[in-house]
Formats: sequence, structure tokens, C-alpha cells
Amino acid sequence: MTLTEKDSQYLWHPYTQHKTSQTPIAISRGEGALLWDENNKEYIDAIASWWVNPFGHSNKYIADAIYKQLTTLEHVLFGGFTHEPAIKVAEKLMEILPKNQQKIFFSDNGSTAVEVAIKVALQYFFNKNEKRTTIIAFENAFHGDTFAAMAASGISFYTQAFQGMFIDVVRIPVPVKGQEQKSFEALKNVIQSHNCAGFIFEPLVQGAAGMVMYEADALAKLIQICKENKVLTIADEVMTGFGKTGKTFAMDYVSEDPDMICLSKALTGGTIPMAITTFTQDVFDAFYDDDINKALFHGHTFTANPTGCAAALASIDLLQTDEMQTNIERINKSHLAFQKKIKNHAKVITARTLGVIFAVEIKSDSEESYYGSMRNKLYNFFIDKGVILRPVGNIVYILPPYIMTDNQLEKVYKTIEEAIEMV
Ligand SMILES: *Cc1c(COP(=O)(O)O)cnc(C)c1O
Repeated sequence: MTLTEKDSQYLWHPYTQHKTSQTPIAISRGEGALLWDENNKEYIDAIASWWVNPFGHSNKYIADAIYKQLTTLEHVLFGGFTHEPAIKVAEKLMEILPKNQQKIFFSDNGSTAVEVAIKVALQYFFNKNEKRTTIIAFENAFHGDTFAAMAASGISFYTQAFQGMFIDVVRIPVPVKGQEQKSFEALKNVIQSHNCAGFIFEPLVQGAAGMVMYEADALAKLIQICKENKVLTIADEVMTGFGKTGKTFAMDYVSEDPDMICLSKALTGGTIPMAITTFTQDVFDAFYDDDINKALFHGHTFTANPTGCAAALASIDLLQTDEMQTNIERINKSHLAFQKKIKNHAKVITARTLGVIFAVEIKSDSEESYYGSMRNKLYNFFIDKGVILRPVGNIVYILPPYIMTDNQLEKVYKTIEEAIEMV
């Protein structure tokens, strides 16, 4: 039996209707931006394996750091204990995060990073005896699949079975060009009519919505409104963090700093699941008390796993090399040139770029749903050509590993151009 055949006997895949979906492709190895399946077919990983892998597959520098840590201290509980890798990650993050971030809390994935942030926002006011229980989020947001993260997410595809079972979330429009005032007004109205604890947002780019982009000034204004009303702000940088937008964090473009930041995905260079939520001193202080009940009673068994910390430290090292920064600029320039070339194509609605992120919206005769027919046609075309891209409805996006070569990028662009002609 092939791996693919054995898979269908036992395994349940994410976001998959097993009755109608195709069988998964069994990948047996990876190097740089390339992956090979069990039949030795080669694929370009043009979405960095769901946005986690900036430095390439099977990266030796990160692998060595992980091996060294595994043979020194693989794991120790973090309740009542600490270790150097966690402290080093904290010190490193303090150097690169917005200056107001002072405390870091470890968890395991993007959803738990968000879950922690939302729980902290709610308990912050509980600890202060203020009744504030509403969370504000953007339309079409994606913050993960655990319950509070799901509640904050606006893509109905993921959450429809659970409507009515969520914490109180009110949605406002994203301040895309021309909609800024509408977004500001909506935020002010929500704050006036609800007891709001926090506002969670994907800064500058909404990934799962199809790389929807909006300006830093608009986000700064929204954060300002929250600050004037003592609503805590949560920047979900799970997708945007660690260089994707061209700066280390998307918040580096924004003149106002958030109260909390959620990190995961590229944190460990796509090697070990790990996440971090960061906080201001003010947030931490609301939990610091003689009363044990004011503590944050949240934790995960593998909190601050030393091996994950070692992977994170090695990843941040790589991110900070001149070579990697040059790669990010090179890919950005290349995307801008492709955007210019493709944006006036008769079948293209619009194209956009920020950092290494590129997205193009393709014209469609019918309303395209998230996993609709055009999406499937495009996806199959790309896979057939050996390019891993996962379109969102009629939106095709590229989020390559930073080490992707110019030739590989050219092949990705060419395949997208062919796909546009094909649909
Ligand atoms: C992927 C993602 C999450 C969820 O992360 P998981 O590791 O999949 O739980 C949360 N927020 C954003 C912005 C994401 O892109």
C-alpha cells in the first residue's frame, strides 16, 4: 500500500470533507522551498506550508539547535520551574517587539495564543471589578479554531455549527481604502453601546480572508479610539509576524502600540509548534495581587518547551541576518513587478503586495465561495504543475519561504498566469 492509501484508513485531516475531497499527497522530504512526494514528484512550496516556514524545509541551522537542546534538556515543566532557553527567547523578543511589550506567556499554537489574549482581556476587567465582556473583531477575521478564537473569527465557513455558543463578539468593517470612516464610526458605536473589554485584529493583512490589506494609519486610529475608551487592543500577528510584511512585525508600521500581541506560525521557523502572547506591564499588573484568584489560571502541559525555544532562537537569528533581510526585499521587489504586470489583465480584478505577501483576485462569473468550484479548479491546476498554492475562493496568494530562488518565483508567477488563462 502507498502512504496515501494507508492514510485514508486511519487519518482525519483538517478542513477536509473526506467524502468528496481528493486523497492527500504524501510528502516524503523537503529542502529549501521544495518538497517531494512519495513518487518523487517535486513541488514548490509557495505558501511556506501554511505560512510557517520562512527559512526553507529541513533547515540545518535550526535542526542543529534543536538537536543540541534535545540532548541537553528536552523538556521540563514550566509551573514552578524555568530554564535558559525560555529566558533567552524573552530577552530576544524584548529587543524586537514594540517597546511597550514587557511580559511573555508561552503556549502551543496560534489559536491558544489568541485564546490566552482574549481570556486575559476579559479577566483584566473582572480583576478590576469592571463589567466588560464584549470583544470587538473585524468582519472576515480569522483568529483560530478553539472556542474564543472561533468566536472572534468572522469567516462563517469555520464557525456556523457553533453559532449561539460563543462569548459576546461584535464585528466592525475592516478599514480598507474608502471604508476607513465607516470602520471608525462602527468602532465608536460598539464601544458606546456595549461594555467592551478588547479589540482583536490581524494587523494590516487578514490572511485567511484572502490577504485583505488595509493601511497602518487606519489601524492607528482604531487603536487610538480604543485607548481613549480603555478597551484593550490585541494584535494577532500569528500570520504577519517575523518578516512577512517586510518589517519584523506588522505593528512596526503602526504608530500606536497594542496592549497584547499573539505570535506563532513562523516563530520556530516551521519546525516545532509553539506560540507566545505578549503583554504590557499594565496588563500583567492587573493579575499581580495577594489574592490568588486574580492569577491567570491558564497553562498548557508543554508550555515554554525548551526544544521549541531553541528552535525559536535559531529562527530569530536567521531572520536577523543581512542575507534574510535582503531576501525579503528581493521577493518584495519581484512581487511588485509581477503585480504591475498582471493587474491590468482582463481577468484580474485587483492585485496587492506587502512584504513577501502577494495576492491576486480573479474575475468570476458567479459568487465564489471559500471552497467553491473555481477554487478547486485552480488548486488542482497548481498541484498538477508542481506548485503548492491554496486559493481562497477566487483569490490566489503567494507567501513564499524567504529563501525561494528567483527561478522558483518565476515558475510560481508563470503558473499563476497560466491558471488565469485557464479558468
Ligand atoms: C493561523 C492563524 C491562527 C491560528 O493558528 P493555529 O496555529 O492554526 O491555531 C490565528 N490567527 C491568525 C491570524 C492566523 O493566521
